[in-house]
Amino acid sequence: MSVIGSLIFCTDCGNLLRESTGNADAILHCDVCGTRNKDTIPQTTVSESKPSAFPSALRAKRSAVQTLSAADRMTEAIIERDCPDCGRKEMFWTTVQLRSADEGSTVFYRCVCGFKETSNN
Ligand SMILES: [Zn+2]
Ligand SMILES: [Zn+2]
Repeated sequence: MSVIGSLIFCTDCGNLLRESTGNADAILHCDVCGTRNKDTIPQTTVSESKPSAFPSALRAKRSAVQTLSAADRMTEAIIERDCPDCGRKEMFWTTVQLRSADEGSTVFYRCVCGFKETSNN
C-alpha cells in the first residue's frame, strides 16, 4: 500500500505539511515552526472517518420516510372541489379503506394551501 497522498501533520504545531513522498527516510520541514517531521503516516489517522462516526442526517431522514403513515403513502388524484380555506377550485383527493370492508371508505381531501378534509362514505 502506498502512502503517497497521505496527509502528514507537524508533530509540534499541527500544521499540514507537504504530501507524503512515500519515503519513510525523508524529512518534512514544517513551514510554520521549522520542526523536522519524519515522513511517516500518523499512527492515528484523524482525517479518516467511518460512516458510523456520524449520526447521519440522511439516515435519519431515510428512517423518517420509512415511518410515513398510511395517509402519506396514498397516491392522490385531483378533483374539482372548492377549498373552503383558500377558495381554490381543485383539491387532491384519495380514498383509503380504514375500517372493515363493509363500512365503506374514507375520502381524504387536501389542498395545496394545507387545508385537509376527510369524509366518510
Ligand atoms: Zn510545525
Ligand atoms: Zn386551500
